[in-house]
Amino acid sequence: MSFYDEIEIEDMTYHEVTTLYTYPCPCGDQFEILLADLRDGEEVAVCPSCSLMIKVIFEAVSCPRLRGYSEMLTVGQENLPRDEGADSAPVPVQVAA
Ligand SMILES: [Zn+2]
Repeated sequence: MSFYDEIEIEDMTYHEVTTLYTYPCPCGDQFEILLADLRDGEEVAVCPSCSLMIKVIFEAVSCPRLRGYSEMLTVGQENLPRDEGADSAPVPVQVAA
């Protein structure tokens, strides 16, 4: 597998609403990868238009957004029980419209 480039996550644009990281592709479209995919260990962002790929460089421990992802999911869901110690439990991947 070959990559067009390797991009640090700090250089990508994060979209709060879609939880999508994007980076400009030379074709005019954008590479994109979901925050949830990064959390799952995925590190390849793909451009939907030309199918070029970039490798996303990141360290989960140094990225607050990645580290606090499960916490983010509970925002607006205060009625649901919250288990502070359930870090090992799988987090359901849900992309809100
Ligand atoms: Zn492209």
